[in-house]
This record gives sequence, C-alpha cells and structure tokens, in this order.
Amino acid sequence: MSVIHGMDTNQNSKSYLQQTPVQRTDEQWREELTPEEFAVLRQAGTERPFTGEYWNSHTKGVYQCRACGAELFTSNEKFDSHCGWPSFFAPLAEERVRYIRDRAMGMERIEVRCGQCDSHLGHVFEGEGYDTPTDQRYCINSVSMRLVTDDSVGGDTPAN
Ligand SMILES: [Zn+2]
Repeated sequence: MSVIHGMDTNQNSKSYLQQTPVQRTDEQWREELTPEEFAVLRQAGTERPFTGEYWNSHTKGVYQCRACGAELFTSNEKFDSHCGWPSFFAPLAEERVRYIRDRAMGMERIEVRCGQCDSHLGHVFEGEGYDTPTDQRYCINSVSMRLVTDDSVGGDTPAN
C-alpha cells in the first residue's frame, strides 16, 4: 500500500499561505524564462513604463501568465490608463490571481501574483478616479503576460 502524506490532506489554509499548484525552483524557472521575464515574474521586478509589448495594445484576446499559461486577464477589462503599463479594471476571475501586501517602496501597495504559479504580475491600485466599473487599476507588466488573440483561440492557426 502506498503511503499518504499528511501534508496534502489539509487544503483549507489561508489563501495567502496556500501553495500554488505550479511549483518550480528558481533553477527551473531560469531555464524556462528569459532573464527579463525571470527578473519580473520571479524577482518582482518592474519593466520600464511605455516599453512593454502590451501597454498600448487594443487587440482582442486573453492574457495568459507567461510563466505557466494560466488565463489571467482579457482585453474586455483592459483600459487606457496612460500609465505606461497594461491596465485592467478586473482579472478574468478573482481566483486567477492572489494578492500580497507589499511595503517595499515605503508605502503599502497590493502586489498581484498569478494564482497558479505565484509569479509576480504587478500591483493593483484603487480609487484613482478612472472611469471604469470598479475604479481599480491592475497595473501589470507586459513581460508577465502573453496575449493569445481571439483569432488564434480554437482556430487552425499553428500554436506559437
Ligand atoms: Zn502563472
């Protein structure tokens, strides 16, 4: 008979302590990601504003986590914040992302991470007065995401 490990039987821990389904070591991530992707996704770096691939994109589609492929945001919730990073007023679904309080810059910010692999995506800000349904701005690094356009979803186009 196989041994059942006790660690896996209790799944009800608080969400921010919960282990995400995709777990890799830094070594493994380094092999899978470019240095720039690694610096942002795994070391909570920030790409320079107005330099990313998607800050000004209006292409329809789904934004996936560049580390693990989880679907995180869609173009339907993307809006023009003119802040230099892709901005969304909501994630695709709340459970797709997780939130961590971040005091790194001397002020409290809410860090947004991928709910599936715990990679850093960006931050969420509230109450800035944008004309969106939630008045929230998910300020996300382009390099943390990959846009899968509506044309290629379920179509016959060869995958990247
Ligand atoms: Zn992920």
